[in-house]
Amino acid sequence: MNFLARLAEGLPHTPLLTGADCAPWAKDWTGAWSAEPLAVIRPASTAEVSQIMQIAHAHGVPVVPAGGLSGLVGGTHAPEALVLSLDRMKQIRKIDPITRVAVTEAGTILQTLREAAHEQGLQFPMTFGAQGSATIGGILSTNAGGSNVLKYGNTRDLCLGIEAVLPDGTILDLMSALHKDNSGYALKHLLIGAEGTLGIITAATLKLYPEPRIRTTGFLACPNLTDALTTLNRLQEATSDAVEAFEYMPMNYMQAYARLHPAERAPFDQPHAVNILVELASTAPRDAALSPEGTSVLQETFETSLAALMEDGLVTDAVIATNDTQRSAFWKIRECAAELSLEGPRTAIINDIALPLDQIPVFFDRMAAALPQLDAGATDMTVAHLGDGNIHYTVRPSSADLKDTIMAMVEADVRDLGGSFSAEHGVGLSKLNSMARHKPSAALATMRAIKNAIDPEGILNAGKVIPTDPAA
Ligand SMILES: Cc1cc2nc3c(=O)[nH]c(=O)nc-3n(C[C@H](O)[C@H](O)[C@H](O)COP(=O)(O)OP(=O)(O)OC[C@H]3O[C@@H](n4cnc5c(N)ncnc54)[C@H](O)[C@@H]3O)c2cc1C
Repeated sequence: MNFLARLAEGLPHTPLLTGADCAPWAKDWTGAWSAEPLAVIRPASTAEVSQIMQIAHAHGVPVVPAGGLSGLVGGTHAPEALVLSLDRMKQIRKIDPITRVAVTEAGTILQTLREAAHEQGLQFPMTFGAQGSATIGGILSTNAGGSNVLKYGNTRDLCLGIEAVLPDGTILDLMSALHKDNSGYALKHLLIGAEGTLGIITAATLKLYPEPRIRTTGFLACPNLTDALTTLNRLQEATSDAVEAFEYMPMNYMQAYARLHPAERAPFDQPHAVNILVELASTAPRDAALSPEGTSVLQETFETSLAALMEDGLVTDAVIATNDTQRSAFWKIRECAAELSLEGPRTAIINDIALPLDQIPVFFDRMAAALPQLDAGATDMTVAHLGDGNIHYTVRPSSADLKDTIMAMVEADVRDLGGSFSAEHGVGLSKLNSMARHKPSAALATMRAIKNAIDPEGILNAGKVIPTDPAA
């Protein structure tokens, strides 16, 4: 019996799509990778995922796990493969306000979990522009970052336990809610960030935090990036580390946003080279206390700090959101990043890099000198989670032929400055050459050994993350 017939027979109640019905899974968000999958299957339980993997394993058919398809590196590209979509596994099993954990299936949309936590006075702090599509399984598999990493860490830091199905169908139940557990290898950490190459994440136990009582959000202009980083440190000191987000947008980003959204009011009347969206949050009642004018203590501290920073010349302009509408308008500018970076017909190189904070200004000086030399017609667009050193430096070359040369140049500088070519989006297919160029050969060999041990047939998300061994 052929593979699809075997699946249909074994799982008669599980939707199995073929042909045109697979269209929604044929492309990821970027549209850079597209291919019609062999079929798409949509299980509703861990047991079904296990059964599917047993059949795929027996037939040697490649399987690609898929969540919200918002990944940016081609991780769900599935030519000739079975796409295993987690979109029906979206039950939030528990939100516990006492232990502050959420237990959820992997297909739950990030925003849905955030809203469910909010209803209990808690927050799941992972947040970024695609939170309305990205799933818990997807953010765990890519170890997603986002705007609040500065305060709460990456997805890895928010995960206590995990349940996954291995390539042969074995269910690995690691659904612990423990904050400490040193009983052998931390297998959950192998699965987090593995981009679906080692197992299919079916559920997770996640950390929750108290919902802040008060937030205050502003746009700042600084003379340069070094002053912006000093500003971050000064704000952290003044507010007992209340800075949740510290996001950088240069002048050409703000101008591109204004072009795309002419009806929106810009935060500043003047253009500035360095624009920072900063958000502070506190759970402490004392910070939420309001003055007779309706200003919170946290906002007053922010204003006092800004006055001192302006006096010292570290901040040259600032505007604080006075209501939720203005706060949303500020965040809308930041969350337009993917749209702005990928706007237009030309091939874009999405450099998702991490740098030591003090090397960030050096990196931009180097790019300003080197990029025009390689490609006089290239344009760039930056947006950065500046507080954690993650820069999205998107370059649009004048010709697709220059893509690899420019990528190699950027990565060489990043490596020279002690950084990483992949900060939060993952490797997928887009960064395979970068892995081959920059990952130490001993690290690649160890990854291949792990992959071979867990997936000897190489059926799970084959060809992603680990480049082919040139010696093989
Ligand atoms: C507008 C926009 C803004 C973004 N901003 C950020 C940002 O600020 N920070 C950031 O880190 N990322 C950002 N991203 C990318 C981010 O990586 C993805 O949005 C998200 O992490 C992937 O979730 P997903 O459910 O869409 O996964 P998919 O795109 O469906 O899959 C991503 C990868 O995970 C694997 N996978 C999916 N589900 C599972 C599972 N259950 N088990 C095993 N493997 C699985 C897939 O095979 C694939 O390799 C952004 C994307 C967009 C479009």
